[in-house]
Amino acid sequence: MIVIIGGGISGLALAHHLAARGAEHILLEASARPGGVIRSGRVEGHLLEWGPQRARVTEGFRELVGELGLTDQLITAPSGLPLYVYRNGRLRKVPFSAAAFLRSDIIGWPGKLRLALEPFTSAPRDEESVAALFTRKIGREAYENLVGPLYGGLYASDPEDMVVGLSLRHVLREFGLRRSFLLPLLRRGGKIAPPDACSFREGMQTLPDALARRHHERIRFSAPVREVRPGARGYVVSTGSEEFTAEHVVLTAPAAETAEQLTGMAPELAERLRRLRYNPLAVVHLHAQTGLRGLGYQVSFAESLVTRGVTWNDSLFGRTGVYTAYLGGARHPEVMARSESELGEVAVAEFRLATGCDARPISVAHERMPAWDHTWGALAGLTLPAGLHICTNWESRPGLPGRLLQAKRLAAQLAPRS
Ligand SMILES: Cc1cc2nc3c(=O)[nH]c(=O)nc-3n(C[C@H](O)[C@H](O)[C@H](O)COP(=O)(O)OP(=O)(O)OC[C@H]3O[C@@H](n4cnc5c(N)ncnc54)[C@H](O)[C@@H]3O)c2cc1C
Repeated sequence: MIVIIGGGISGLALAHHLAARGAEHILLEASARPGGVIRSGRVEGHLLEWGPQRARVTEGFRELVGELGLTDQLITAPSGLPLYVYRNGRLRKVPFSAAAFLRSDIIGWPGKLRLALEPFTSAPRDEESVAALFTRKIGREAYENLVGPLYGGLYASDPEDMVVGLSLRHVLREFGLRRSFLLPLLRRGGKIAPPDACSFREGMQTLPDALARRHHERIRFSAPVREVRPGARGYVVSTGSEEFTAEHVVLTAPAAETAEQLTGMAPELAERLRRLRYNPLAVVHLHAQTGLRGLGYQVSFAESLVTRGVTWNDSLFGRTGVYTAYLGGARHPEVMARSESELGEVAVAEFRLATGCDARPISVAHERMPAWDHTWGALAGLTLPAGLHICTNWESRPGLPGRLLQAKRLAAQLAPRS
C-alpha cells in the first residue's frame, strides 16, 4: 500500500500514474477540495486564478490532458504576445532576439556593450548568489531590468538571497549552460522562443478537478494527516480519526506541514524542513479597460514598487478586463501585515503608474511560495528513511510541468512494470 499525503497537483498526478500501473494506493487531502495552490473561481462573473495563471505546454502536460479527456477544454494563448518590464516611468518590451535586444530601450548602450564581455567571464560557482552571478556575467543594468525580475519572479524571491548551487544549477544543466550563457544563445540564432502558455476554459482548477473525479475512490478529502510513525509493516499514517498502514508514504504537503507530520518519528528531519522559507504574496485581481495586449509585465529591481508583476489575463486567455497583480515577495514581505483595502489601493495606484490605466480591485488574497533561497541549504545531504518519498514543489522544480514529471517518475519507481 502507498499512502500519498496531499491532493495538490503533485499528489493527484502521482495517484493518476499509480492507478495506471495498478498499484494499491490512497491519497489523503487535508482540505475539502483538490488542487492545493491551484484555485480558480468566479467573482462578479469574472474567471480568476489565485494560483498558477498558466502552464507551459510540455509533452507531459499534453499527455495528461489527453488521458483525462480535457483536450477540448484546453486554451492556448496567442503566440508572440509581448512581455514587458516596468522601468523608469514606462513599460518596455522584453527582447527575445539579439536584433530586438539591440533595438530595445530596456537597457541603455553602456549596458548593451557590457553584455559583450559575458563570454570572457568565468563559469557559475555553486556558492555565489544568483544576483552576484548575473551581475558579474551580464552587468548590473541587464540584471536589474531583465534577468533579475524574470528569474526572481518565478519564485517571488530576491536573487541576492538565492544561491546558484541550490536554485539555479539544475536550470543551467537543463539548458546545457556551462561557462557562457550568451554564446550558446547566439549559436542557436540569437533567438529565444518563449513556450506556449495554456489554461482551460474554466481555469486551471479544471485539471485537479478532473484528476479527483477520475480517482475519487482512492481519495479522502477533509483528512489532514497528523502523524507518520514507524509500524510493523512500514509506516502508520494517522489522521487522528483513521489510521492507514503503508509500505511507502509520499510526502507532498508544504514543508511546514510535512515537518509537523514527521516531528515524532524524525525530529531532525522535521527541524530541517522548518528552516525552509516561503515568500508571502498578495494576489490582487484588478478589473480595467485598457486595450493592452501582452503576457503582462514584471517590475525592474531598480524600482521600489510593491508590485512584482502583473499578468494580463485579458489578452492571454480572453478574460475580459481581468489583470492579476502580484505584490510583495521576498523584497516586500510587509504585504502580509497590510489590510485587503490597502493592498487593493496600492495595486491600483501602481497599475496606473505602469500602464496609465485606471483599475479597480475585485479580489485580494494572500498566497505563499517556496523561496528556493539560501535556506534550501537545510536540505543538503538529505537522506530519507526507507519507504518515505518526497514529491513536492519544495524539493524539485515548482512549475506545473516539473510537478507532473516528478510524479510520473516516482510512480515508475514505486510500481515498476514487470
Ligand atoms: C501564486 C502562485 C502562482 C503560481 N504560478 C504558476 C504558473 O503560472 N505556472 C506554473 O507552472 N506554476 C505556477 N506556480 C507553481 C505551482 O502552481 C505549484 O508549485 C504547484 O501547483 C504545487 O503543487 P503541489 O501539489 O506540489 O503543492 P500544493 O499545491 O501546495 O499541494 C499540497 C497539498 O497538501 C495538502 N496538505 C497540507 N497539509 C496536509 C496534511 N496535514 N494532510 C494532508 N494534506 C495536506 C494541501 O491542502 C494541498 O492540497 C504558482 C504557485 C503559486 C503559489
